[in-house]
Amino acid sequence: MTRSTRTAVVALGGNAITRKGVPDTIANQFKHTRQSLAGIVPLVKDGYRLVITHGNGPQVGNALLRIELSRDKAPLLPLGICVADTEGGMGYMIEQSLQNRLRRENIDTDVVTIISQVIVDKNDPSIANPTKFIGQFYTRDEARRFAKERGWSVKKDGDRGWRRVVPSPKPLKTINASAIKSLVDTGTIVIASGGGGVPVYIDDNGDYEGVDAVIDKDRASALLAAETGADLLVILTDVDKVALNFGELNQTCLDTVKLDEMKAYAAEGHFPAGSMGPKIEAAISFIENGGREVVISSIEKAYEAVTGDAGTRLTR
Ligand code: ADP
Ligand code: MG
Repeated sequence: MTRSTRTAVVALGGNAITRKGVPDTIANQFKHTRQSLAGIVPLVKDGYRLVITHGNGPQVGNALLRIELSRDKAPLLPLGICVADTEGGMGYMIEQSLQNRLRRENIDTDVVTIISQVIVDKNDPSIANPTKFIGQFYTRDEARRFAKERGWSVKKDGDRGWRRVVPSPKPLKTINASAIKSLVDTGTIVIASGGGGVPVYIDDNGDYEGVDAVIDKDRASALLAAETGADLLVILTDVDKVALNFGELNQTCLDTVKLDEMKAYAAEGHFPAGSMGPKIEAAISFIENGGREVVISSIEKAYEAVTGDAGTRLTR
């Protein structure tokens, strides 16, 4: 086995921890996390330096449900606290699962979780036009009432009902990026930017202040990959490859794609906003910010994707 000293930022998709149709109890989340690490551990063995990022959609959904159920009984939690809580809780879950696995494989590597704050522009266009659905579904009357009473923005989410929408501003800077880089450069595995990190802006006094918004985890991962000088961004989700004409009879999977070619496919509308779109956008931005390579594949194929035998690669 050839040892590498390459640094990879590995972004875990929702299915790494919660699976569709499987109750998202903590026991199940631990079980899935342990399974998902199967493809990551060989990378550590090969000498890859790793930053692990992850989504938090279902977990924040559950946090919001708890807030709803305990309204008037326990203090309300702003969205930023929910994100920070899930960065901590999910970070703990991934960290401990990885530590146990590494110990069994006789690999002596530290794993740490960092709660990330990520700077956004307080005038980001998404703040005036929120589009990211969060939390439960409501009837139109409930949605109208909550919009009035709670100041929520609400929108219809397909045929399933009405939901709260929040801004998803573009991440500009990860506050702890240089500390994360120092840790990774000395061989520590770092879990960071969970759920995209807590969005904050810089106020008129130069202080950080939270915003009621969420950051897309793929965008935050690409930013952190550029900031830490990673060689490789690995986006792991529930499909083995990115496709053109996804879900159509003429669907074709992509192997290795150059930057200009990928931009053209994106412009042709092959990658929808709520799913593959942010991954492709993140991939493009990482390469444009000096990154060498991005691979998008499934959790199961993580190792093969990195070694070149699976996934869709974006190169310069
Ligand atoms: P994650 O939690 O990993 O971010 P998402 O559901 O947001 O997962 O994105 C992955 C999904 O994107 C896949 O399950 C697939 O259904 C969908 N998808 C949309 N367009 C494409 C495409 N062009 N190629 C492959 N998958 C696509
Ligand atoms: Mg997603």
